[in-house]
Order: sequence, then structure tokens, then C-alpha cells
Amino acid sequence: MAPPPHAKAGFGTRAVHAGQEPDPITGAVIPALSLSTTFAQSAAGVHKGYDYSRSGNPTRNAFETAVAALENGKHALAFSSGSVTTATVLNMVGMGGHVVSVNDTYGGTFRYFTKVAKRNGVEVDFVDLADPENLRSKMKTNTRIVWIETPTNPTLRLVDIVAVAQIVHSFPNALLVVDNTFMSPYFQTPLDLGADIVVHSVTKYINGHSDVVMGMAVTNSDAIAEELRFLQNSIGGVPSAFDCFLANRGLKTLHLRMKRHEENAIAVSRFLESSPKVAQVIYPGLESHPQHALAKRQQRGFGGMVSFRLRNGDLAASNRFLSTLKLFALAESLGGVESLAELPAVMTHASLTPEAREALGVTDSLIRLSVGVEDAEDLIRDIQAGLDAAIA
Ligand SMILES: *Cc1c(COP(=O)(O)O)cnc(C)c1O
Repeated sequence: MAPPPHAKAGFGTRAVHAGQEPDPITGAVIPALSLSTTFAQSAAGVHKGYDYSRSGNPTRNAFETAVAALENGKHALAFSSGSVTTATVLNMVGMGGHVVSVNDTYGGTFRYFTKVAKRNGVEVDFVDLADPENLRSKMKTNTRIVWIETPTNPTLRLVDIVAVAQIVHSFPNALLVVDNTFMSPYFQTPLDLGADIVVHSVTKYINGHSDVVMGMAVTNSDAIAEELRFLQNSIGGVPSAFDCFLANRGLKTLHLRMKRHEENAIAVSRFLESSPKVAQVIYPGLESHPQHALAKRQQRGFGGMVSFRLRNGDLAASNRFLSTLKLFALAESLGGVESLAELPAVMTHASLTPEAREALGVTDSLIRLSVGVEDAEDLIRDIQAGLDAAIA
């Protein structure tokens, strides 16, 4: 079969067209929302590629095809959350296997590794990968997965994917998994840099409208895809067709949204850097970010997440800042069109011990912004009012 005309097209063209061929019967340009759980067979065991919607669903397949095309992957598998994507990938390891994870991984991933995977007989070690060489001493003969996120949450530290992939692949049984949620495929495609599996919380930028919880795993390996497809069907953490329809609709504007998220994040971070009320701004697009050079090398842009510290701030000052904001909603999550602000020490990272928060730099004065796609001037005016209320 000839590849579809958009196979080698630009990102925006693929975002709009991949997996979206007009319906051969009706001509409908938008793939049908296929709610059916079961599919009629012409003879026992003879069907048109679908038998039961947990195993495969046309709306889900269309979305999986679209995300695979954007991540430069051959196969994509959708799950009912980013978290169950993690759990399903970890099921590839099995009892007695070993996982190495970057130390400041997403809180829910950390919880799964330390509280659930361990219970299932999987051993997990954490490592600071600011220097990729730190990985070598953690690798063992039974290491099956190395798990990284870049940039990390909420301190936006980067991991050099190419360097880590080289070390991982010098061990024949180990796979590199990259959580690409923060960058989205628009700004970073880890499979091109040596990752074996890319995972997403689709809940964030890919859906982009804060109204769907979903996850995705993408790979170029037929064997990994076959194993994940088996686990997806056996564990059954699949998304609904309706959520796939919504997330696919969101995906079609990913390139437009990410450009605007980034423009606004740059404007906001430059404004924050110019303010005497701010002690530090953390954004990989700023020259002041210690890994700015790596960000320019492995990413095609810098994304929409910005963290900063109030000067001489404490919990009360952070709360004054957050309660003064009118446009930024005080809320967890990220990646939607609307701007959000949160206090990691009290919200997303509250489950860490105070010592762990201290080690990661998650202080009471650290505020995380998910910069949305509104007008930058309005966002900056809102932040200015917050800073004035926070710091006299
Ligand atoms: C939100 C998030 C997850 C978990 O995804 P859910 O869809 O909330 O289950 C995993 N990794 C990162 C980086 C996230 O931001």
C-alpha cells in the first residue's frame, strides 16, 4: 500500500490529516465517533478488523495513527490516563526486574514506582541525570527500563536524551522511555533521539483543552508495540471513543497552540526576569537557564511552562500572589489553552517529604505557571498585580 500523501508532510499538515481519511461509505471528512462496543462478523471469526472495542475501536485507531505520525513513530497506543500508560509500560518489566528513573519525575509516576511497582516485585532506583554519566553505576544486568522526563516538573531540569540513550543501549535488555508530556511532539520527538518508547499524558498539551484525561505510548519497534498492544487489551485501561474524538480534535491545532504557548511563555518569563520582586525565573528558553544550550540542541522550542521564585518570598507571599490573580486560575494540571498557576510545595508536590522537596528546590516561594494562549499583555498585567500584592 502506498503511504498516505501526508506521510512526509510538515507537522501542521500531519496534525490535521494523519489518520483522518474521509469515510469511504459516506464521505464524512471527520472520522465517525464510533460508540459501538461490538462489531458484526460475516462468519464466525471473520470481521473488518474490529471485533470488540477494548481490543480496537475505529475512533481510537484514528487518534493513535495521528499521534504516531506526530511523534515520528510507527505505532501509538491510547490509554485512559497518562498514569495507566505508565502502569502498562511497567508491566513489561515483571517480577525481579529493575527500573532506573530520573529523580524528579512526575509525582504520580514517583508514587507508582515507589508504592505499586515495588509491591509487584519490581525494583526501582532514582538518579540525578544532570550528568548522564551518573546512569552507568545504576545499571544492572536485570535493568529493563530507564525512565526519564525532560524538562522535569516543576523545576524544568533537562536530561540529554541522546547521551542517556547511548548508555541505555550499551545494555542489551534495557529500553529508554521518555515522558514527553511537557514538550509535546511539536517541540521534541524523543524517538528521533534514541528513545524506545515515548509516553504522554494526553490530558495536557495534546488534548489541550482541559476536558479529557488520557495517555499515549508511541514506539517504532514492532515487538514493543505487539507487547504493549497485548497489555493494553489484557489490562484494559483504554479510553472511551468519545474522549478519543475530543482529543483528536484538540490535536489538530497542537502546532498553533504550542507556538502561542511559547510566545506567551517567553514574554512572561522576560517580564518576570525584569521584576525586582522576583528572585529567579526558570524557563529553558532564557539564556540564564543552566541547560539553555541543551534545550536549543534537543528541542525545537521551549514550551509553555515557567517556574519562578518570589524574592524573599514565603508561603504567605505566595498565597497573596496566587489569590490576586484573575486570569490565571489557581489549579493543578497544565497544557490547556487557559493559563494556570499553582504552588507545587502545597499542591502538586505536597506528597513529597519536606526533605525531598528541599532537595528538588520545591520551596514555598516557587510558583509554577502553565502559560495559556490568551494575549500576553493581559497575562503580564495579571502577574504584575499579583507581584505587587505579594511583595511590598
Ligand atoms: C499529568 C502527567 C502525568 C499523568 O497523567 P494523567 O493523565 O494525569 O494520568 C504523567 N506525566 C506527566 C509529566 C504529567 O504532567
